Amino acid sequence: MTTNDRYSIFSILRQAWRGNTGWKPVWRDVAPKPAYDVVIVGGGGHGLATAYYLASQYGRRRIAVVEKGWIGSGNVGRNTTIIRSNYLLPGNVPFYELSMKLWEGLEQDINYNAMVSQRGVLNLYHSDAQRDAYARRGNAMRLHGVDAELLDAAKVRRLVPFLDFENARFPIRGGLLQRRGGTVRHDAVAWGYARAADRLGVDIIQNCEVIGIRVDGGRAMGLDTSRGYIGARQIGVSVAGSSSRVAAMAGLRLPIESHVLQAFVSEAVKPFVGGVVTFGAGHFYISQSDKGGLVFGGDIDGYNSYAQRGNLPVMEDVCEGGMALMPRLGRVRMLRQWGGLVDMSMDGSPIIDRTPVEGLYLNAGWCYGGFKATPAAGLCFAHLLSCDEPHDVARGYRLDRFATGHAIDEKGMGPYPNLH
Ligand SMILES: Cc1cc2nc3c(=O)[nH]c(=O)nc-3n(C[C@H](O)[C@H](O)[C@H](O)COP(=O)(O)OP(=O)(O)OC[C@H]3O[C@@H](n4cnc5c(N)ncnc54)[C@H](O)[C@@H]3O)c2cc1C
Repeated sequence: MTTNDRYSIFSILRQAWRGNTGWKPVWRDVAPKPAYDVVIVGGGGHGLATAYYLASQYGRRRIAVVEKGWIGSGNVGRNTTIIRSNYLLPGNVPFYELSMKLWEGLEQDINYNAMVSQRGVLNLYHSDAQRDAYARRGNAMRLHGVDAELLDAAKVRRLVPFLDFENARFPIRGGLLQRRGGTVRHDAVAWGYARAADRLGVDIIQNCEVIGIRVDGGRAMGLDTSRGYIGARQIGVSVAGSSSRVAAMAGLRLPIESHVLQAFVSEAVKPFVGGVVTFGAGHFYISQSDKGGLVFGGDIDGYNSYAQRGNLPVMEDVCEGGMALMPRLGRVRMLRQWGGLVDMSMDGSPIIDRTPVEGLYLNAGWCYGGFKATPAAGLCFAHLLSCDEPHDVARGYRLDRFATGHAIDEKGMGPYPNLH
């Protein structure tokens, strides 16, 4: 069974003419082969992007992605879809800006409509001290060639007039705006990368859980899976919230904790939130989907967990933040709530590195923000797997930085994963 031809206006017309009876599966359903050159564990956005760039940029062949559930069942299909590159530290800005540039060309590159929508990300500030911190971040961004605008309250009011500007506790004084930030339809990213990788010969193997990593003489040899043994010259682990569990199969203990992060969506209302708005006095952020639902989120659960579901205390906390920012939210009915498993690192920054086990590589520690990183993480992980050295923009994301003191702590919180 082959997959679809290139999508174009002509293929749509051709299918319309045939009553849409000729569409083929978006990727092949393949059984695992006995061995591959590279096996990526985890069919989330990062794993699929890695496989795609391995084949498209580095000319690698004999690649498989093994996924324990179905493509898109993890965080890539559960996040709040926000992309941005508004970081402060030199270890982060070039990486996230590369990701933003890749988003900007992604749909042409993978021939898939991922609904990349650069409608702006606005971080609100509520005090003079917070304004100064945002001015510093905006300046750092501009020094790296990233767009940033510091807005006063009047300018914010023109953009989002429905906020509670005169809130007694948290008056809105202004905001830091990145106009190129925005949203991307999350599951389309998984489907688009899967299709593009499949077209280059990558085997995408669903319902195939890795249950063991065979190591011989300090070298990774292959994977025991729920569908049998698969040999591999190189193994790339890209399993987000399951990173510690999978690494433990090779005897590794990671500087990562897993927590639940929840998201919420309301009933559909007429368009009124143009871009992404984040509250500066609590953890709450909001955007509006193309269907009209208000999409919002907040803090992770404060304890470790592998449960991918929501709960009432966090819902209450998030709604309190929302009400302080936008009192009219109280009139809207909540439709759905869900949770995903996030891999919180000790400094809030990711890890893209080799491991002490030869042939075993790690892409993890994405915390709250790995969706926006999907294209760059895929490219940089593919680079590491192919060149055996880090990509220029990911040099700081080393596994040993916690031992050497080279943490990349964007928030300056210290080693408390639940605070990043
Ligand atoms: C509610 C929520 C909101 C978020 N909002 C944003 C946002 O707005 N912007 C942003 O940038 N980031 C956001 N994030 C974070 C972002 O979604 C993640 O950092 C990112 O998706 C992680 O990479 P991934 O897509 O590869 O992960 P996943 O999609 O989770 O992929 C990992 C895959 O590994 C598979 N796996 C696990 N164990 C095994 C095994 N043993 N064998 C085989 N496969 C296995 C899983 O089934 C899963 O499919 C959010 C996360 C959540 C949960």
